[in-house]
Amino acid sequence: MKAAVLYGPRDLRLEDVAPPEMGPDDVLISVRSVGICGSDVHYLQSGRIGDFVVRDPMILGHETAGVVVDVGANVKGLRVGDRVAVEPGIPCRTCEPCKTGRYNLCPDVRFLATPPVDGSLCELIVSPADFAYKVPDHVTLDEAALIEPLSVGLHACRRGGVTAGSTVLITGAGPIGLTCVMTALAFGATRVFVTDLQEHRLRKAEELGATAALVVGKDDVREAVLELTEGRGVDVAIECSGAERALHTCVQAAKPGGRVVLVGLGADDLVTVPMVHVATKELDLVGIFRYVYTYPAAIELVSTGRIDMKKLITHRFPLEEVHKGFEYAEKGIDGAIKVMIEVG
Ligand SMILES: [Zn+2]
Ligand SMILES: [Zn+2]
Repeated sequence: MKAAVLYGPRDLRLEDVAPPEMGPDDVLISVRSVGICGSDVHYLQSGRIGDFVVRDPMILGHETAGVVVDVGANVKGLRVGDRVAVEPGIPCRTCEPCKTGRYNLCPDVRFLATPPVDGSLCELIVSPADFAYKVPDHVTLDEAALIEPLSVGLHACRRGGVTAGSTVLITGAGPIGLTCVMTALAFGATRVFVTDLQEHRLRKAEELGATAALVVGKDDVREAVLELTEGRGVDVAIECSGAERALHTCVQAAKPGGRVVLVGLGADDLVTVPMVHVATKELDLVGIFRYVYTYPAAIELVSTGRIDMKKLITHRFPLEEVHKGFEYAEKGIDGAIKVMIEVG
C-alpha cells in the first residue's frame, strides 16, 4: 500500500509498504481523510519532538477517518462499510492512569505517528475496534478526521472549566486555538478573545464567533483584555501558541481565582512565569496532554451542527501531493489553516 513515510528531517517519501495485520479485537480501516497537524509538520522539520526521535522510518499522520473494510473475530458494534473517526492513542488499559479514567496519561500509550508507532497517512490502518468511532452518514470524513483536533479543544475547555457565561482568552489562533474558540462558544462562553501574530488567522477567529481579535505586537493584549472586561480579567485563559510571552499574557489577563490552561508547547521546557500574579490571584495553572474520552462528545457536537470543523479546512490534496500539502501547512501558503490529505 502507498504511505507517506518520514525517514528523517526533510526526508518524506511516498512509497509502497506492507499493509498492517489485524488481530481479533481490531478493525481494518481504509483511510480516506487525514488532517495535517502541527506535530506532523514538526517531525518533518526536525525529525523529533522533544524526546520522541524518528530513528526508524515512520508513517506520519494521526487525524484520521475512513471506512471499515474488515473486522476481527471478537468485534461487536462495528461492521464492514461503517464510516469511522479513529482515536489515535491506544493505552495499555491496565496501569493506574488507565484504571482511573485518565488513559491519556498512560506511560505505555501508543499514539499514531509518535515514534516508533506508524501513523495513518497510508491506505490501510488497523485500530482496536473500541477506538474507532462510527460517525453518522451526514458527517463528512473530513469532519470525522478533525474530531481529533476538536478533542484537544474539548479537553482544554473541560479542564479549564469553561461554562455558560464564561469569558475566555485564547492565545494563538492556529487550528488548535481556533478549535478552542468554537468549543468555548459551544460550551456557552459568551465572550471569547483571541490573539495571534497573523491577521488571516484572526479574521478566521472572528468568522468563527470570537468577540475580539487582538494582534500580538500591535495591540497591548493585556491592556486590551482588561479593558474589554472592565478590569475584571478573564475566567479562563487558554494558551495555544507555545510562546512564553503569550503565557505571561494569560497569567496577567486571568481574573483573581481564574484558570490558565496550557495547551501550546514551545521548544523550551523551562519558561518564565509571572509567579506573583499566580500566587496573589490564586490562579490554577492546568496542564493538558492530548485528551481523554472526548470522541463521543466531539462527534455529537459536529453531527448536531454545534461545531463546524469544515470552516477550518482551507486546502485539500491527494496523497500523491502530500509534499505540497505539507508545504502549504508549514508555510501557511494561500492562507492555509487546516490542510487535508485525501487518501484512496
Ligand atoms: Zn493533531
Ligand atoms: Zn495504561
